[in-house]
Amino acid sequence: MPREFKRFAPTPSPETQHYWDGCKEGELRLQRCDQCEHTYFPPRPFCPKCASREVSIYKASGKATLWSYVIHHRPMPGFKPPYAIAVVQLQEGPRMMTNIVECEQTPEALQLDMPLEVRFESVSDDINLPVFAPAQK
Ligand SMILES: [Zn+2]
Repeated sequence: MPREFKRFAPTPSPETQHYWDGCKEGELRLQRCDQCEHTYFPPRPFCPKCASREVSIYKASGKATLWSYVIHHRPMPGFKPPYAIAVVQLQEGPRMMTNIVECEQTPEALQLDMPLEVRFESVSDDINLPVFAPAQK
């Protein structure tokens, strides 16, 4: 999907570098607590559930379902209206705010609970953003 404007690109921090490195390599990376097995997002160096710092990084399936969305009709840098800002439920549990691509941005096309899979869109030399497309049947 061509973008009309350059989108804002996030700046990786030491805590999120592994995540952005993963996106650059086409992998959605999540963290899981070694103590309580809680999987969480966004990246942080300790478990949000039990505060353990023994956490592991792993490659997520990239599968998700559409949990909620809002369709915006006003232009924003990098977005051609109408566009949906969506929240997806990852198969591993966490929810993530993202965009839905390869799909009409209408309530008819965007069905809640529809199966999705991750794609990566380059927004700068260093940053690929994860977005989600309807899963291939
Ligand atoms: Zn934990």
